[in-house]
Amino acid sequence: MMADWSRSVDVERLADHGDAVAFDVALAEFPRLRAQLASGEGRARGRVELSRERGVAMAQVVVQASLPLVCQRCLRPVHVEVESESRVALVADFAAADRLDSDVEPVMLEEGRVVLRDLVEEELLLAVPLVPRHEQETECGLAPAAEAVGNPVNEEPENDPEPPVTQKPFAGLGELLKRGP
Ligand SMILES: [Zn+2]
Repeated sequence: MMADWSRSVDVERLADHGDAVAFDVALAEFPRLRAQLASGEGRARGRVELSRERGVAMAQVVVQASLPLVCQRCLRPVHVEVESESRVALVADFAAADRLDSDVEPVMLEEGRVVLRDLVEEELLLAVPLVPRHEQETECGLAPAAEAVGNPVNEEPENDPEPPVTQKPFAGLGELLKRGP
């Protein structure tokens, strides 16, 4: 079923079969989401279940991911955990959308088809905070340089209570030389 992931699929057929498509894909495969990420690293996992309710094709979208976003306070990566489950109605036109219960979100089909990846991407995009930031002040701005994306930051944070141990590879060399053979 993964072959159908990024191509449009016939919704009516899937809904009639009650098909479920499980996915485990790289975040880099979501083009619109990717533009908002600090990196394309990480994966999204979950499933899309198609069914029919009162004649309407429905999709249950379950997705779990850890999104590497950019903290808007310190501009370093911050991971936002997403665990989302939602139900959308797949409808052909506005008239069909109007007939839905108010708590069901409609998704417009194009000629009866939808791209399952786009349904999942929509869920992930909705989960992206307007202003991503580290929740803990202590984490903000202090992420290890190794986690910084693109350009590693070298400056030490001010007033660091525990400065990192500096490696001095030649510190013991003098002693060794004095001892001699
Ligand atoms: Zn931060």
